[in-house]
Amino acid sequence: MLNSIHSCMKCGTCTGSCPSGRVVSFRTRQLVEEHCLGEIDLDDIAIWYCTTCYNCMERCPRNIDITDDILRIREEAYKQGKVLPQHKDIMSYIYRTGHAVPINEEIKDLRESLGLSRIPPTTHKFEEALGIVRLLLEEGGFNDK
Ligand code: SF4
Ligand code: SF4
Repeated sequence: MLNSIHSCMKCGTCTGSCPSGRVVSFRTRQLVEEHCLGEIDLDDIAIWYCTTCYNCMERCPRNIDITDDILRIREEAYKQGKVLPQHKDIMSYIYRTGHAVPINEEIKDLRESLGLSRIPPTTHKFEEALGIVRLLLEEGGFNDK
């Protein structure tokens, strides 16, 4: 069973497990603490540094849903129009193509050389599925403007 962030014992395992924390000034334990205290700054771009790898959540001795909590923080930031332009760009790609990284001719050639179908069985092949992807994004409040 997952526990609330308020059961954090500040052991630091989450920070020590975080691949992002090794390269940017992002400290998972600090974020958990700030959230516990109601001091999260939604303008702080650090909330977007998490790669959602779930390392911290798997290793937390208190079984706290850290990553999901970070996603909830981001959701709140997004609702307030606070999102990094790079993240918005990725969402636009998904909205327009169904992929965060749309396929290009080079990849199509590579697929063919490996004996795969030139177009993968995704929204690239089934364009009608793109409408569902867009619906899901719009339901989440996204608009491609
Ligand atoms: S690993 Fe869990 S208990 Fe330890 S500091 Fe991080 S959130 Fe708190
Ligand atoms: S889920 Fe996010 S905060 Fe947790 S270890 Fe991975 S990158 Fe760090």
